[in-house]
Amino acid sequence: MTLTEKDSQYLWHPYTQHKTAQTPIAISRGEGALLWDENGKEYIDAIASWWVNPFGHSNRFIADAIYKQLTTLEHVLFGGFTHEPAIKVAEKLMEILPKNQQKIFFSDNGSTAVEVAIKVALQFFFNKNEKRTTIIAFENAFHGDTFAAMAASGISFYTQAFQGMFIDVVRIPVPVKGQEQESFDALRAVIQKHDCAGFIFEPLVQGAAGMVMYEPEALAKLMQICKESNVLTIADEVMTGFGKTGKTFAMDYVTEVPDMICLSKALTGGTIPMAITTFTQEVFDAFYDDDINKALFHGHTFTANPTGCAAALASIELLHTEEMQANIERIHKSHLDFQKKIENHSKVITARTLGVIFAVEIKSDSEESYYGSMRTKLYNFFIDKGVVLRPVGNIVYILPPYIMSDEQLQKVYKTIEDAIEMV
Ligand SMILES: *Cc1c(COP(=O)(O)O)cnc(C)c1O
Repeated sequence: MTLTEKDSQYLWHPYTQHKTAQTPIAISRGEGALLWDENGKEYIDAIASWWVNPFGHSNRFIADAIYKQLTTLEHVLFGGFTHEPAIKVAEKLMEILPKNQQKIFFSDNGSTAVEVAIKVALQFFFNKNEKRTTIIAFENAFHGDTFAAMAASGISFYTQAFQGMFIDVVRIPVPVKGQEQESFDALRAVIQKHDCAGFIFEPLVQGAAGMVMYEPEALAKLMQICKESNVLTIADEVMTGFGKTGKTFAMDYVTEVPDMICLSKALTGGTIPMAITTFTQEVFDAFYDDDINKALFHGHTFTANPTGCAAALASIELLHTEEMQANIERIHKSHLDFQKKIENHSKVITARTLGVIFAVEIKSDSEESYYGSMRTKLYNFFIDKGVVLRPVGNIVYILPPYIMSDEQLQKVYKTIEDAIEMV
């Protein structure tokens, strides 16, 4: 049996309707921006394996750091114990995060980072005997698939089976160009009408919605409105963090600072699952008490796994090398050139770029659903050409590893141009 045949016997894949899905591709090796399947076919990984891998597959520098940690202290429980890798990650993050972030809490993935932030927002007010139970989120937001994260997510077909079982979430429009005022007004109305504990948002780019972008000034304004009413702000940087937007964090573009930040995905350079939620001192202090009931009773078995911490430290070091910063700048410029080239194409609605993120919306005759027919046609075309891209409906986006060469990048662009001609 081939790997693919064995797979279909045993495995259940994410976001997959197995009855109609195509068989998965068995990948046997990765290096840099490239992947190879079991038959030796080569693919360019143009979405950094779901946005996690900035420095290339099988990165030696991170692998060495992991090996060294694995053979020193692979794991120890974090309840009642601590270790140097966790402390070093905390020290490093204090240097690079917005200055008001003072405490860090480890978990395992983007959803748990969000879950922790939402629970903290709710318990923050519970601990102060203030009734605030509503969370504010954007339309079409994506914050993960665990229950609170899913409640905050606005992509309806992900969550429709669970309606009525969620915490209270109210949605406001994303302040995309021309709709800023509508978004501000909606936020003010929501805060007036509901007892709001927190506002969670993907800063500047909504990834899963199809790389929908909005301006830092608009986000700053929304955050100010929250601050006036003491609503906690939660920046979900799970996708945008660690250089994707051209700065270390998307929040680096914004004049306001959030109360909490969620990190995962590129945190460990795409090697080991790990996540972090960070907090201000004020948030932490609401849990700091002689009363044990005011503590945050949340934890995961692998909290602050030392091997994950070692991977995170190596990744952050790589991110801040001159070479990697130059790569980010190079890809950004290249995207801008490509955007200019195709945005006036008759089949293109619009194209947009921020940092290494690029997205193009393709015209279609019918309303395109998330996993609709155009999406499947595009996806198959790209895979056939050896380029890994996962369109969202009629939106094709690129989020490459920062080490992708100009030649590889040009091949990705060319394939997208050909795809636009094809549909
Ligand atoms: C991917 C993502 C998540 C969820 O992360 P998982 O590791 O898949 O649980 C949460 N928020 C944002 C913005 C994401 O892009």
